[in-house]
Amino acid sequence: MPEAQSRLDLFIDRMVSQRACLDYAIAQTTGHEGPVFELGLGNGRTYHHMVQHIKDRPVYVFERAVASHPDSTPPDDRVILGDVRETLPASVAQFGASASLIHADLGGHNRQKNDTFARLVSPLIEPLLARGGLMVSSDRMYFEDLTELPLPSGAVEGRCFIYQR
Ligand code: SAM
Repeated sequence: MPEAQSRLDLFIDRMVSQRACLDYAIAQTTGHEGPVFELGLGNGRTYHHMVQHIKDRPVYVFERAVASHPDSTPPDDRVILGDVRETLPASVAQFGASASLIHADLGGHNRQKNDTFARLVSPLIEPLLARGGLMVSSDRMYFEDLTELPLPSGAVEGRCFIYQR
C-alpha cells in the first residue's frame, strides 16, 4: 500500500500546482483585455507572481483584511476590501463579465469547510468571468456553465483546478 503523503508533501504539491496553473492561465489569457482578479491575498505570494508576469492588465485583489508582505501589497485602488460574499456580487455592477483571469485561494486548513465555501462562492464568481477567460482555484469549484480543463504539466491532480468560460 502506498505511504500516505505528509503535510509537507501536500503543501509542496499545492505550491507547485498553483504556479504551474497560474503560469498556464497567464499565458493562455495574454492578449485578453479584461482585468485579473486575485481572491484571497494572504501573504501575497501568488499576487506577487501574478503582477510580475502580467503587465498588460490590472490585477485587483479581493481580501477581507490586507496583511501581506510589504513587497506584495497592492495599491489601495486595486484592493476590493471586504468579505467576498458581499464584494463579489457588488463587483458585478462595476465589472460585469469582464475578467480575463480569476485566481481563488480563499481556503484554510479544513478541507470540509473549504469545500462548503467553494460551493457558496462559485455562483458569485461565475458572472465575473469573460468569455474565453480562465479561473484557477486551489479548491474544486461548482460552476454551472464553466468547463473544467485538464491540468498543465507540473500540476498535481486534485491540488489545483482550472475552468474556462
Ligand atoms: N494565495 C495567497 C498567497 O500566495 O499568499 C494565500 C491566500 S490565504 C490561503 C487566504 C486568504 O483569503 C486570507 O488572506 C483570507 O483573509 C482571505 N479570505 C478568506 N475568506 C475570505 C472571505 N470570505 N472574504 C475575503 N477574503 C477572504
